[in-house]
Amino acid sequence: MRKHIVAGNWKMNKTFNEADDLVNELMEKLESTELDPNTLVVVCPPFPYLEMTSDYSDDSYFMVGAQNVSDQESGAYTGEVSAAMLESMEIDYCIVGHSERRAYYGETDEIVARKVDQLLKHNLRPIVCCGEVLEEREGNRQFDVVKKQITDGLFHLSADEFSNVVIAYEPVWAIGTGKTATPDQAQEMHAFIRNLIAEKYGDEVAENTSILYGGSCKPGNAKELFANKDVDGGLIGGASLKADDFLAIATA
Ligand code: PEP
Repeated sequence: MRKHIVAGNWKMNKTFNEADDLVNELMEKLESTELDPNTLVVVCPPFPYLEMTSDYSDDSYFMVGAQNVSDQESGAYTGEVSAAMLESMEIDYCIVGHSERRAYYGETDEIVARKVDQLLKHNLRPIVCCGEVLEEREGNRQFDVVKKQITDGLFHLSADEFSNVVIAYEPVWAIGTGKTATPDQAQEMHAFIRNLIAEKYGDEVAENTSILYGGSCKPGNAKELFANKDVDGGLIGGASLKADDFLAIATA
């Protein structure tokens, strides 16, 4: 049975003390929260806070992820952080291909593919983001866009390798805007993605792949979104910065 995952993407927010307070509050409240046993909570803080956050990770229902990784193994790449470094810190997950990285830092599908390779080589699970911008949705091109992102970013992998990948469908027009995809729009795209995976790797791999929804997911709309059969949880931005909101989403 595929995992339900609620992953918090803190982006470039919080000072060290604020981050420490948030993780503490989250852990305290998680202990008294009844989570479905198949639900995994992942927190993705900025790089400098990974170690502090991973001190709380218990390898069962609370895990830590990075927000980015280098596409290179090691060497003269000033400012970059490698998958080997993350592995040596026992980080479990890493977001790749977020629309902000694609839009502001030129992260192409080819770069996404190399980052995914680095992560898998070093035993991290990639959370690979895909999704269309508003103009593409208005032109009814969302399926072509997502198909290309998934094909070019991931379909060079073997079925074994692919089974470690988590996908996050994040319509760019819904990220940080307060506009959420309707449950039907989310389900339609998630089913489309699962079908692409089934065509490439077979039904078993497709059925075992967790596909998360991201884009203005909040306590008030999470239940409705997650009720869809192909929506296996969420990648949460803004609402992951408040422990109560994030946990309300995790219990949804
Ligand atoms: C995100 O950036 O991955 C995201 C989903 O952000 P938000 O929840 O704030 O829309």
